[in-house]
Amino acid sequence: MIDPVMPTYARAPLDFVRGEGCWLLTDDDRRFLDLGAGIGVVSLGHANPRLVAALETQARQLWHVSNLYRIGPQEALARRLVAETFADTVFFTNSGTEAAELAIKMVRRFWHEAGAPERHRIVTFEGAFHGRSMAAISAAGSEKLTRGFAPLLPGFSRVPFADLDALAAELARGDVAAVMLEPVQGEGGIRPFAPEDLSRIRTLCDESGALLVLDEVQCGTGRTGRLYDHEWAGITPDIMMVAKGIGGGFPLGAVLATEAAARPMAPGSHGSTYGGNPLACAVGLEVIDTIADPVFLEAVRTKAARLQDGLDVLAQDANDIFAGWRGRGLMLGLECRVSNADVVAAGYEENLLLVPAADNVVRLLPPLTISEDEIDEGLARLARVARRLEGKA
Ligand SMILES: *Cc1c(COP(=O)(O)O)cnc(C)c1O
Repeated sequence: MIDPVMPTYARAPLDFVRGEGCWLLTDDDRRFLDLGAGIGVVSLGHANPRLVAALETQARQLWHVSNLYRIGPQEALARRLVAETFADTVFFTNSGTEAAELAIKMVRRFWHEAGAPERHRIVTFEGAFHGRSMAAISAAGSEKLTRGFAPLLPGFSRVPFADLDALAAELARGDVAAVMLEPVQGEGGIRPFAPEDLSRIRTLCDESGALLVLDEVQCGTGRTGRLYDHEWAGITPDIMMVAKGIGGGFPLGAVLATEAAARPMAPGSHGSTYGGNPLACAVGLEVIDTIADPVFLEAVRTKAARLQDGLDVLAQDANDIFAGWRGRGLMLGLECRVSNADVVAAGYEENLLLVPAADNVVRLLPPLTISEDEIDEGLARLARVARRLEGKA
């Protein structure tokens, strides 16, 4: 008989009932160090008192009103994001997938309004992940995401990861509406674009007129030590998707855009029942207030350096298990020489939560509030994970 919960997930038999900062507690009182943070979602740790207070205050005032009316917390968060980023305007969603869906619609609408509706091709990079809607899986295109879901949406093509010559060749054809990419691929195995490559991609887009759409759902909102990752490259996109970390665990996503990219989205062109919900935006405002603080971001960079240095040592000491690491800031991928599934499973034995990704990597995406002691504890547990696996190398 089929499970009452549709069996689309391969779940570990762990049932967490409470969270505190970087720690998760099971129903039988085991404490796990959470280096996955709900896949980069719980950016400020579990049950963060500031977020709990913001949510409680809002919950006593107003849970929901329709986007038929003005929504104060939504306007406040939009103003804050506009002040802190390249964006002139923001549309709120409940998830990254919905943000990707809107970004794709905006690209199409932009060229429609520009009088060139035939210019609708969006180029992505192999290994991309933008969510699970038909548009998002069509954009990413991998067999893993698309198998059995044909027919896919037309209008997408792919080039090999970080192959700028291939991208330039696509753009030279003159029909590319937009280039869409994650500055650090997440599901694809924590593969960062070099800042120089991002800057070159911006230039290529400018030369051809194509829009640049960045998916910062996983790598954004402080994760790599800047409020948004593209700041490392000194560039700005035309459209950016965010989600995951911006809600700190409350469902919230957004599309940020320049005025030029958003202008075609007239009243009636898009909408969402829950998007920009007061509860979500009250929490999101507290998250952005916390993370956009330069002192907070500096601390993220300091912690990231400590964790990265520790991973260097780990990969030296346990080189038969770990080949090295890649990523930026606190978005890191440990390259495994044994199966990454075995590493994740050995992590459970050490009360340590890790997240697998493609390319035989395990992801480390700890809460940005992780302490230096907790980083050291995580590294010690990773060393014990390696020792457990030595027989399998
Ligand atoms: C998780 C993710 C998404 C999808 O977000 P959901 O909230 O799961 O819909 C899109 N893009 C990237 C880069 C992601 O990591």
